[in-house]
Amino acid sequence: MKETFQKAAPLLLKIEEAGFEAYFVGGSVRDHILGKAIADVDIATSATPEEIKRIFPKTIDVGIEHGTIIVLFNGISYEVTTFRTEAEYVDFRRPTEVHFVRSLEEDLRRRDFTMNAIAMDKDGEFIDPYEGALAIKKQVIKTVGRAGDRFNEDALRMMRAVRFHSQLGFRIEEATLQALESYGSLLEKISVERKLAEFEKLLGGKYRKNALQLLADTGILNFLPGLSPYKKQIQQMTQLDCIELSIVEMWGLILFQIQISMNKAAEFLKEWKLPVKKIKAIQQLLFYLNDRMKNPWFTKAMFDAGEEILIGTERIFNVLHNDEINLNIESLLTKYHSLPIKQRSELQITGTDVQNWFQRTPGPWIKEILEEAEMAVLNGHVENHNNSLKEWLLRCNQN
Ligand code: ATP
Ligand code: MG
Repeated sequence: MKETFQKAAPLLLKIEEAGFEAYFVGGSVRDHILGKAIADVDIATSATPEEIKRIFPKTIDVGIEHGTIIVLFNGISYEVTTFRTEAEYVDFRRPTEVHFVRSLEEDLRRRDFTMNAIAMDKDGEFIDPYEGALAIKKQVIKTVGRAGDRFNEDALRMMRAVRFHSQLGFRIEEATLQALESYGSLLEKISVERKLAEFEKLLGGKYRKNALQLLADTGILNFLPGLSPYKKQIQQMTQLDCIELSIVEMWGLILFQIQISMNKAAEFLKEWKLPVKKIKAIQQLLFYLNDRMKNPWFTKAMFDAGEEILIGTERIFNVLHNDEINLNIESLLTKYHSLPIKQRSELQITGTDVQNWFQRTPGPWIKEILEEAEMAVLNGHVENHNNSLKEWLLRCNQN
């Protein structure tokens, strides 16, 4: 067993000594079987959060109504969740409620895919009633129970299927795939926030190209914000090797691929409810990419873009040309670093200087002069010194 599990085993033992059951569950068990590194373990137990609080002195309430509590144990925090079924699937009148149950099997049955429905006890023994380990071995994504029913209960699972396809490269089992094709429209009921979280994991997956293709092929794309008109363009992305792009760069690539205007791009990204800062970065990537498709990097564009956007743009540009992703990046960086200034604030003059030198009433002309100074410094026509700039500006603006 991996060290992460070994460290947590005494915690499971303590719960058992108090008369309850406790297991490792979910992604960590799946990844363990896959031989992957594990970040953190999730624990499922027959004890209720209140009962867990009585066993451990240090706990933090995070989502007691969902049965989850954090236990601090030997300096590490663990999410411990009570076995449960989700009431919304049984009782449509009370959609947000969960039912705590005492049986592990019931808890495993509510989980999405067989590979995610494996429990492991503190000694490393698996409890695997849905043959999840076999699915992992065969590299198959298969729902626990009938796919159509499970997607009707929670349509997000369809996106999860595709994002696991993206991360693991597993194929989607036939009946599960058919249900993906039939029930995509149920995603309309799912909040954008939940879709976004899965979509970004998809964009980061090793098999992202296949996953994007799958979204298009199954028609799920039609129920994702802003993407329905672009099936063909998304399918064409399979011709591009985009595996090394960051998530933000992936967004930029998608926007470019669907040939969206700058105005529409802003709407599109807002519809996805991305954070403002991220939206801005993606818009900039799109802007400079459109420019880069027509022109080489001019000094002014490099300066305006800044290092991160410059590099990101060039990486997407390379992907679009099927070139090695980091082609030209070194030389671009060298050029960028040799710019006399990297931002406007580094200019050794201020608006007040300009006003004093020219002795005219303030107005938009000050900004124009500052821009002129900035361009002159960037192009090496004058040194970035207060005195040199004064002399140069006065000489150029004599009339
Ligand atoms: P990751 O490694 O990306 O965190 P994960 O499998 O741990 O993958 P989580 O979203 O962290 O995914 O969920 C933890 C577990 O909870 C899953 O393995 C699965 O058993 C269950 N689960 C999560 N979301 C759902 C859902 N929508 N329906 C059913 N079960 C779910
Ligand atoms: Mg997880």
